[in-house]
Amino acid sequence: MRNIIVLGAGYAGLGVATRLARQVDAGEVRVTLVNGRDHFVQRPRLHQAAAGQKPDAPGLAGLFGGPAAELRIGWARAVDTAAKVVSVSTADAVEDLPYDTLVYALGSHVDTTAVPGIAEHAVVLEAGGARVPETGTVIVCGGGLTGIEAACEFAETHPALTVKLVSRGEPGAWLSEGARKHIAKAFARLGVEVVRGEVTAVEAGRLVLADGELAFDACVWAGGFAVGSLAAEAGLTVDARGLAVVDAHLRSVSHPDVYVIGDAAAVTGRDGSVLAMGCRVGAFQGPYVADAIVAAMLGKDHAPFTYRYIHQCVSLGRRDAVIQFVHAEDETPRNAVLRGKVAVWYKELVLNGGLWAHRNPGPYGPHRKVRPAVTAR
Ligand SMILES: Cc1cc2nc3c(=O)[nH]c(=O)nc-3n(C[C@H](O)[C@H](O)[C@H](O)COP(=O)(O)OP(=O)(O)OC[C@H]3O[C@@H](n4cnc5c(N)ncnc54)[C@H](O)[C@@H]3O)c2cc1C
Repeated sequence: MRNIIVLGAGYAGLGVATRLARQVDAGEVRVTLVNGRDHFVQRPRLHQAAAGQKPDAPGLAGLFGGPAAELRIGWARAVDTAAKVVSVSTADAVEDLPYDTLVYALGSHVDTTAVPGIAEHAVVLEAGGARVPETGTVIVCGGGLTGIEAACEFAETHPALTVKLVSRGEPGAWLSEGARKHIAKAFARLGVEVVRGEVTAVEAGRLVLADGELAFDACVWAGGFAVGSLAAEAGLTVDARGLAVVDAHLRSVSHPDVYVIGDAAAVTGRDGSVLAMGCRVGAFQGPYVADAIVAAMLGKDHAPFTYRYIHQCVSLGRRDAVIQFVHAEDETPRNAVLRGKVAVWYKELVLNGGLWAHRNPGPYGPHRKVRPAVTAR
């Protein structure tokens, strides 16, 4: 029996597991999906959850199944790349799972180390995270897409709330003028106050800035993502941020039997820089790696991974949004933007399309029933 283990059932990992399990012969290959939670978390909707909404969180057992599929709900604690074993803590045991091929897709989390006090005094947009209050003052820290989306969502859902967005520069500064103007209009309509400043610490009920301080009832930290240390601890080659460095086929450059995808991977893009973290990237890497593993088992060549950026989708509450179309090579903005209702529809289509793809993973067409040879590479 050939064991393929996929660590992480996010946008990247779930896409590998579902598509792979459909293609292999259950008598020869087992695809084990390991995830800490028993449901799929739509991270791009976590600001909605923090506002008190209930985004769809489908159970993994309903998404991943079939004769070759095995689901393990548990936390991966260590990877022994020499013995080819993953150590997983489940509810009642610590298990050592052997693998022939490993897919590492453990994603990222909000970086709580950027300034002192985040972990103790701020709310982060993570699964199972806290909700913001309905009244008082909420400060959102971070003028990136997550901060913009969160501030608008909170202000729209809770009109009695005072919402401040603290940002070093102009929120969404890299977007086109049209997109920035639309965001500024949305802030004005929803009453989001933008405060320009450098945060130096978060304290109980108080945000410390380089040139002053602000009181809050809740502080939401939206300052950027970091990755866990498991890849580095396993001895995979990682970059300065801890992302595993991969080759053109998304295999670890130090351990070719380990594929690394999603936020956890440092993938070189068309302009030579590392691809940005985003479900828009990971969702394409999952199906690619499933097909690459099948091709490898069959001893066939598989084309290198390529990715073209198309857009950045920014919700501004439930009734407004802006879609920034970007250049394929480096994600710099084009002048083309969608605004308002049509942008809301577009963003919903993209997010719901991601879920649809997990439910309908393919592959479609003449190669749908591939039966790989177990003895191949
Ligand atoms: C509020 C918010 C808004 C966002 N908006 C956008 C957007 O508009 N567009 C966009 O492209 N991106 C957006 N993102 C980023 C996007 O969600 C991530 O880039 C994407 O989820 C990464 O996918 P992934 O599969 O690599 O990791 P994840 O989706 O993080 O999945 C990793 C999975 O692994 C599990 N896991 C982690 N560690 C372990 C362990 N040790 N053992 C077992 N399981 C483990 C996690 O529980 C999770 O299920 C947003 C993120 C947030 C938080």
